[in-house]
Parts: sequence; structure tokens; C-alpha cells
Amino acid sequence: MQRSPLRHWHCKKGDRLNRWRSIPLWQRVIAALVLGIIVGRLWGAGAENIKIIGDVFVAFIKMLVVPLIFFSLVAGVASIGDLRKLGSVGWRAMLIFVVTGQISVWLGLLLGTLIMPGAGVDTSALTMGAVPEPAETSWREMLLGMVPQSPVQVMADVNVLPLIIFSLLLGIGILMAKEDGEPVLKIFESGSVVMQKVTAVVMELTPFGVFALMAWVAGTLGFDALAALGKLVFLNYFGCFLIIVFIYGGLLKLIARVPVIGFFRGMVDAMAVSYSTASSNATLPVTLRCAERNLGVSKSVASFVISLGATINMNGTAMYLGMATLFGAQIFGVNLSWGDYGMIALLGTLGAVGAAGIPGAGLIMMALVFSAVGVPLETIAFVAGVDRIMDMMRTTTNITGDAAVAVTVASLTGELDRAELISADDV
Ligand code: ASP
Repeated sequence: MQRSPLRHWHCKKGDRLNRWRSIPLWQRVIAALVLGIIVGRLWGAGAENIKIIGDVFVAFIKMLVVPLIFFSLVAGVASIGDLRKLGSVGWRAMLIFVVTGQISVWLGLLLGTLIMPGAGVDTSALTMGAVPEPAETSWREMLLGMVPQSPVQVMADVNVLPLIIFSLLLGIGILMAKEDGEPVLKIFESGSVVMQKVTAVVMELTPFGVFALMAWVAGTLGFDALAALGKLVFLNYFGCFLIIVFIYGGLLKLIARVPVIGFFRGMVDAMAVSYSTASSNATLPVTLRCAERNLGVSKSVASFVISLGATINMNGTAMYLGMATLFGAQIFGVNLSWGDYGMIALLGTLGAVGAAGIPGAGLIMMALVFSAVGVPLETIAFVAGVDRIMDMMRTTTNITGDAAVAVTVASLTGELDRAELISADDV
């Protein structure tokens, strides 16, 4: 019997699709990243035309953020089983967030002092970027902003921190209601499974989104600015690299006692997405998925630590705030005392906690640190032109930190499936 041409075409298409899908997602994503850079460099500014593909991808991931946090965090907290256990996960995570944040900001200060990236910068060669509006929120407003006054409004505005607080409270309520809370728990558990399936579908777009965003960045980056600010950019990458290898590597090896390579292998998707989107929030669904599926972190610990970490645990940003303040001081010849260093360390960590997980948030937080120690705000305009390229690396550092803390806390509280992490070769 002869095969109809249409059927033949369908079979071939199906074959191709299967072949494409048989390549592990992380390999497709890495290939897309490299290809994106090559195409962007060859195409130049014209690569802007395909940025829309990346924007569509990011919009789809953003779509997941609210329902995913809501369902998985409520289900996660409620399935921890008792309040004491929730507390033991919570304080450990917070302690590691604070300690690693402090080490990171001091690392930025150390590198900035030793290498002096601001010395000899020819400012005339720079195209000034726009200075973003400094955030003028006082700590009182910030505190009030964390309270989910209207949960529906909070969801509509994708306001992550109050959403986390609302979800935590709802989870705690379910725990306290015991048997009466079970029907509600079932809804959230099932909703959380459904959201994971939706995430899996959206993840199939990752290679295309990453490709388009990388082509756009590589094609439109101002290389003059990059050359003049090369030292700062390089130092920023170097600092982030040290944080990832030594701080996270140390946490994983010495405290969590898990294979470090296995961890990074399981995190490739999330790292590539964070690098190309420069947004911890947009990467959140992917980080969660990697932690649960590839790193063996229990659902409850992953959703709690990673959702919280995406907004408050930003070590790359903390390091950068320290380094950039010294950079500004060096360009403008501002002398800093040890007291100023202490102030930068404090405000750098607070700034990183307060920074939203969106592109360029660290740049806005600079105003907070700079004004406290008398560094001119013009520094922000100098670095704005190359901020994106540095933002990509600090975001990758930030989300890798969230996952490293989740693995560590899970390991300390008996919520880690080690076999899952070790077998993370086909992710
Ligand atoms: N873009 C970073 C993030 O989303 C924050 C920053 O600008 O440093 O984690």
C-alpha cells in the first residue's frame, strides 16, 4: 500500500519533533545561548528585531509566577506537617541568607579596594545611560508594603513579597485547622501539580527565548562603553564566579554534603534562563522546577526557600553594590573611611534584600548606598550603559544561591532526596 504524501509529511514532522525532544532540555538551552551570541554578533543592532520572541517567552514565564507561588507555597507549607518543622526550615534559610549576603558584599568591597576598577577610567569615552528614578520609599513604607492588605490586588500587581506572606499564612492556617483544613489542602496540592505541568509546557519555549534574548544583548551592546568599563564588568563577573564556586560550592560540599557538579548540572536550565532574562522573578518557576526535579529538594522546602530567596536573597546584587560604590568613589575621588565601609556593607545587604527580582533593580538600589556615603549619583549614569551585561551575571548568582540554600536547608532537615540529585544526568 502506498503511503499518502500528507501522512508521510506528518510522520517526518513527528520524527523531527521527537528527535528534538529527545535532546535533554539543558543541552538545547546551552546550544541556544551560544548560537544566540554568535547570531547577535554577526547581525548587530538588527538582532533587536527578534527580541520579541524573548519577550513573549518572558511574558509566558511571568504568567506562571503568581499561580505557581500561590499553589506551591501554600501546599508546601501545609505539607511540612507541623509548625515546629516550618520554623526549623525558616530560621536556617534566613541565617544562611544573611551570612552569605554579608560575605558577598565584603567580597565586593575587597575586590574593589584591591583592583580599583575606577582608577584611570576615561569617562569621556562613555555614553551615559539614563539615571533611573531613585526609589524613594522609606523603611516604614517598605514595611507596610509587605503586608498583603488586599490579596487579590497583590496578585494582580504581581507583588511577590506580600504574596509570599499571604501564602505562608494560608499554609499555616491549613496546618492549624488539621482535619478541617484537608479539603482545602487537597485543592492546593492538586493545583500545584497542575501548575507544574503548565510550567513543563512553557519550558519548551526556553531554547527559543534564550536564543532571541542573547542575540539581542550581543547585537546591541555598546562595545565602547564595555571597553571603558571593562575592568568593572570583568571584576563583577569574577566576584560572582567566586561566590558561585566558593560560597555555594562550600555550602554544598561542606554543609549539605552533596556532589557539587551534580548540583550545577541540575541547575543549567535555571542558570541559562536567569542569565538571558536578568530577572530572578521571571526565572522563579524554572528554579523551582530544577530544585524539585533535578536536585531532589522536597516540594515544601523548595517552594518556601526559593520563593522567599528570589526576592530577598541576592548575593550577586549585594556584591555588586559594594563594588560599584567603590568604583564611584574612585572615579570622583571620594575618600571613604572604615565607617563608610561598614555603612556600605549594611546598606548593600539591605539594598539587595529590597531589590525586586527584575532587570536593573540593583541599579536603582545604588542610589540608596551612594547617597549614604557621599558618592555622586552620576556614577549610576556611567554604569547604566553596561548594567545589563553585569545584571545577567548577578541574577544567575542570585538564583543559584537560592537553590544552593534550598539544597542545604533540605539536607539539614532531612528533606533532600540524594538519589535524585546524583542521578541528575538526564535533565
Ligand atoms: N536583576 C537582578 C535579579 O533579578 C537584580 C539586580 O538587578 O541585581 O535578581
